[in-house]
Amino acid sequence: MGICDMCGRDSELYKVIVEGSVIEVCESCSKYGTVIEAPKKKEVIRKIDSLYIDEEDNKGETLAEDFSFRIKKAREKKGLTQERLALALAEKEGTIHRLESGQLKPSDVLLRKLEQFLQINLKEENKDKKKINKTKEDINFRDKGLTIGDILDAKNKKQEGP
Ligand SMILES: [Zn+2]
Repeated sequence: MGICDMCGRDSELYKVIVEGSVIEVCESCSKYGTVIEAPKKKEVIRKIDSLYIDEEDNKGETLAEDFSFRIKKAREKKGLTQERLALALAEKEGTIHRLESGQLKPSDVLLRKLEQFLQINLKEENKDKKKINKTKEDINFRDKGLTIGDILDAKNKKQEGP
């Protein structure tokens, strides 16, 4: 039992990878990430190979990992409610809510609207390679049963196809 990193509920925790970071969340929040460890089961890396699918997309800038936080911070700085921001951007309030809770990634168009209206930058230089390395270390650190070799195996399997 523990506290879900996403919704704060006290629950059995799943270890998931979201945006390159390992966090512990409840069952219902686990669907937003790649589950690497379920409660009470030491079986890991069920879907870890999906981590590497995006490797080809390494070009230029990418959505900042903390985009939700940046949006929320900038909105609050302007003294706007989610509803107000939604109106200003001609979006639904639910869209803003989901953006700020990290459940939704903005489309390119929405991203540009947010950046312009809030006068913020929601992108950062692509650090995917670094991120993956960091994830490997993180996993190894947290779970001694999982080695870099295991991850590379999962990766190789992915590349060879099913
Ligand atoms: Zn949760």
